[in-house]
Amino acid sequence: MAVTKNRIAKNLQTIRVSIDEACQRIGRDPSEVHIVGVSKSVEPDTIRNLVEAGQFDIAESRVQQLVDRMDDITGWVSRRRSELPKPIRWHMIGHLQRNKVRAILGKVCLIHSVDSLRLAEEISTRAKAEDIPFVNVLLQVNCSMEDQKYGCAVGAAESLGEEMSQMPHIRLCGLMTMGPLKRAEGEPRNSFRRLRELFTDMKTNRNVGEHFAHLSMGMSNDYITAVEEGATIVRIGSSLFE
Ligand SMILES: *Cc1c(COP(=O)(O)O)cnc(C)c1O
Repeated sequence: MAVTKNRIAKNLQTIRVSIDEACQRIGRDPSEVHIVGVSKSVEPDTIRNLVEAGQFDIAESRVQQLVDRMDDITGWVSRRRSELPKPIRWHMIGHLQRNKVRAILGKVCLIHSVDSLRLAEEISTRAKAEDIPFVNVLLQVNCSMEDQKYGCAVGAAESLGEEMSQMPHIRLCGLMTMGPLKRAEGEPRNSFRRLRELFTDMKTNRNVGEHFAHLSMGMSNDYITAVEEGATIVRIGSSLFE
């Protein structure tokens, strides 16, 4: 069953208020924090309600699902264009294999999950071949001590980020991390703080370019902590649909 527009709007409002309060506590400007709605666990009907509730940044974590849903929603959007104030922006937040890059290039506004030189090179090469001037990406870093499958090591991030930002068709927009999957491995705050420190170091000491401005961190369980630690993008799924 689809989650209603009203329910989603209420949840969005609650999340927005929590973000604004967190910003107030630590003296940040709340307009710096953007919500990306993660639709991977809901049906297309609910995604339409999400859009009607005013959420235009939407993320998926698997390429095939992203492409299918984009096709599905795009038709609906074009029929409703006059009623929707702005276009949907799709984000790719899950692991991206090199052989799937082509399927999403030119379709997504930001790839959050670039975590290797080879993947970045593939994106840049493909973009060149398809006459796409640049692709917005974040470097995904594994900031928790646990053995997460994806994300580059903290120690490799600075040089990797610098190399990526030199690639002609890559626009490095910042960093992304996932909090620890198991709470026992440490509080998410440590991971988020580590990412923010890395971000500041890179911005100060490395040639990462003028677009290096975003920290994508925080999900339903830990977005308030992430905002307190400097997140500019929070990726929220389940809390939108409860
Ligand atoms: C699923 C997912 C989210 C959202 O998680 P929720 O706990 O549902 O808010 C955020 N980021 C990534 C990378 C995800 O895969």
